[in-house]
Amino acid sequence: MVARKTVAVIGAGVSGLAAAKAFDERGHIVVGFERTHDLGGVWEPSRSYPDVQTQSPKELYRFTDLPMPDDYPEWPKGPQVHAYLHSYADKHDLHRLFRLNTNVTGLDRRPDGKPGWRLALRSADHAWTEDVDFVAIATGQFSDKNILTFPGQDDFVAAGGTVLHSAEYTDPSLARDRHVLVLGGSKSATDLVVNAVRNGAASVSMVYREPVWRIPYFVGGINFKKLLYMRFQEGQFNGWNPTRAQRLRARVLKPLIWANFRGLETILKLQLGLRKWDMVPSVPIEKAVSCSIPIVTPGLFESFRDGRATPIRGTIERFEPGHAVLSSGRRVPCDVAALAVGWKLGIPYLAEEFRRTLIEPDGQYRVYRLAVNPDLPDLGFVGFNSSFCTVLSAEMIANWLVRFMDGQLADQPTEARMREDIEANLRWRRTERPAAQIYGGLCSAPFHFRHLDEIVADIGAPPVRRGWLAENFTPPDAETYGRYLAGARQYRAN
Ligand SMILES: Cc1cc2nc3c(=O)[nH]c(=O)nc-3n(C[C@H](O)[C@H](O)[C@H](O)COP(=O)(O)OP(=O)(O)OC[C@H]3O[C@@H](n4cnc5c(N)ncnc54)[C@H](O)[C@@H]3O)c2cc1C
Repeated sequence: MVARKTVAVIGAGVSGLAAAKAFDERGHIVVGFERTHDLGGVWEPSRSYPDVQTQSPKELYRFTDLPMPDDYPEWPKGPQVHAYLHSYADKHDLHRLFRLNTNVTGLDRRPDGKPGWRLALRSADHAWTEDVDFVAIATGQFSDKNILTFPGQDDFVAAGGTVLHSAEYTDPSLARDRHVLVLGGSKSATDLVVNAVRNGAASVSMVYREPVWRIPYFVGGINFKKLLYMRFQEGQFNGWNPTRAQRLRARVLKPLIWANFRGLETILKLQLGLRKWDMVPSVPIEKAVSCSIPIVTPGLFESFRDGRATPIRGTIERFEPGHAVLSSGRRVPCDVAALAVGWKLGIPYLAEEFRRTLIEPDGQYRVYRLAVNPDLPDLGFVGFNSSFCTVLSAEMIANWLVRFMDGQLADQPTEARMREDIEANLRWRRTERPAAQIYGGLCSAPFHFRHLDEIVADIGAPPVRRGWLAENFTPPDAETYGRYLAGARQYRAN
């Protein structure tokens, strides 16, 4: 018999919804906390910039039991994803499980010495604590903005200039007739560049440090989902704990794999005109692929070509009224500076001693299956296994986590095995695949199948036959994973 537990879910984005559903479905008492006024996380409209759309195609950004609506485009817009998440919450009656406008400000062991955790909570001016048996952390990687300030910023603002974080750029009219400078080269930066151009900016400069590989939605006319999401392709990257057969295969196929990636680089250089813009990255593409590799915002290179936007290598050194002065000494006219400088990764509310246990001095997370740490019992992470299909990864790990908590995994790991695996994975990230260190190592891409295979095997779901061709040459299929979950042993806590 499995004992019913009280489980706190922190965050009501994609991952919090997946966690709430998985723990509720097994009969646990779920208390969800979301600090904003609505569910949806990064897709909540006041948190995203105009025109935001998914990088993943819609069939790869969905829960197993709810396809996105047929009339959605292949890459849905932010408000559509938000509406989809609401429909998922409606379908599973998840709203009742969350308390909105409730910020988790602290997380520490229970003072009564019992297993579980004490949460410090705040809602408006009311603060209180609650004790729970288990905590599922689903606060994502995009909750706390990186804030940069530059010399001269106060005078720049006093003279009428605007400086904001990319997530605060929610009003497109901000750009009209103004000189816009976007700092950064990520997907959010390029989205803002295109948005400012389309909204009548007087000029748009994109100031970035280093060129990175970017993947267009269509590579040489082929939808990128056919390139980046296949088991066959995945085998060309150096994954963790390779078997002897995988090492041998990699050695034999090395020249072919090398040629394949050089071919892909050549197509990208030609298609995007990277040389012309001095935007050819120095790192081979196969070493760079990870969660941070951006998809090309449609219209970006077109705006470079027609002169409405200018890419400039460097960074801001200081502001002057009406200008930004760059590291090269170049003065760029600037009325609006949008800083697309990302987010602070972390769990600021977790007590310091536990953060030290969880996070290495170099920022790498010590997590087994990107979900648990054996030295932090009664706690796990959902959505820390981010990927190019995060909704599916979050749902799968949520189902793994509830079984882990209940001791119901078919292959329940021992503490020793988790420690050994964590060490091996850290070694792999640090020595063999530095790209896997992105976001503290909390990214399962491009090894989607590898990671999902491990989850399915741990849960003990019987194999679902898709056929060799489909298995190797088509992207992960959400409905197939739904069938895996349905085929696993079902139970209910009471
Ligand atoms: C613009 C953009 C586009 C993206 N496109 C894709 C894509 O195409 N494909 C893909 O796979 N991924 C994409 N991602 C990544 C995206 O983050 C994930 O897909 C997914 O939405 C993450 O969900 P999450 O629930 O883990 O985190 P979030 O969506 O960040 O949700 C975390 C929630 O936790 C809440 N929270 C944080 N701290 C606290 C606290 N202390 N107390 C209470 N609540 C708290 C936050 O308010 C938030 O609602 C994109 C991200 C962005 C920003």
